[in-house]
Amino acid sequence: MTEQLQDNEEIIENYLKAGRILSQVRSEAKDKIQIGSSILEAAEFVENRALELGADGSAFPCNISRNDEAAHATPLMGDDDVFEEDIVKLDLGIHVDGYIADSAITIDLSGEFSDLVKASEAALSAAIDTVASGVNTAELGAVIEDTINSYGFKPVGNLTGHGLAQYLPHVSPSVPNRKVSGGAVLHTGDVVAIEPFATNGVGKVVDGTLTEIYQLVDVKPVRMPAARKLLKELAPYSTLPFAKRWLKTEKLDFALMQLERSGIVHSYPVLKEVSGGMVSQAEHTVIVTDDGCQVTTI
Ligand code: MN
Ligand code: MN
Repeated sequence: MTEQLQDNEEIIENYLKAGRILSQVRSEAKDKIQIGSSILEAAEFVENRALELGADGSAFPCNISRNDEAAHATPLMGDDDVFEEDIVKLDLGIHVDGYIADSAITIDLSGEFSDLVKASEAALSAAIDTVASGVNTAELGAVIEDTINSYGFKPVGNLTGHGLAQYLPHVSPSVPNRKVSGGAVLHTGDVVAIEPFATNGVGKVVDGTLTEIYQLVDVKPVRMPAARKLLKELAPYSTLPFAKRWLKTEKLDFALMQLERSGIVHSYPVLKEVSGGMVSQAEHTVIVTDDGCQVTTI
């Protein structure tokens, strides 16, 4: 076996291991999502349990977005919010040696949106059935939009799935959730996260006012002592997103603002459906094969 192939096998094994651990955490975490239970506890359970099961860490903070929030919500430090009759998106990312598993489920605590939940799940299944080497991502977008429409809902058109690479949770190609022209052809060995979002709103998200998730994007020297301390604290996360609640640096908000202004840190505000529509999400990570794909997070 050539060294190259051996490396590839190791890489694939890391993706699969990350996926296996993620599925177990995802399944155990469902019990933590109940009306009246702590949202912070659910997020911390996910992040700690992944480590206990042998993951090298979170690929990004556990996202728990509710109702018209589509993505990028995560609890604040000391958050005492509890689940209510919410439509809850649990989006988990874990990594093994930087190789990422990314998956999301929607849990409807209101009992009123089961069709909306089914719409994104069915769109994900249909997309997974369509994926193979040679397939254009535009075909996936069309299948996703048609499936969600068939349930009477709209896809969130400005959110997409994405490629994954070592320590990089968002790389090309993007996987559209609606009909697009263009797109990119998938190839055997590509690792992509497919994540349809369905809504009873107009189908578009905008930045909300809250930001709890950030990512290091460009390391360069800084002068402010607080910002320098923070950069040191961020080093272990490499290029993986982190949550504000994970950090201990003093004057954290000030330091984060400095790093953001210098273009060192990118912020991910909570994304909300612009018309206040309810949003569901379903996501799996897949490795593209010659005639289909292998779902790592099944
Ligand atoms: Mn995700
Ligand atoms: Mn994703």
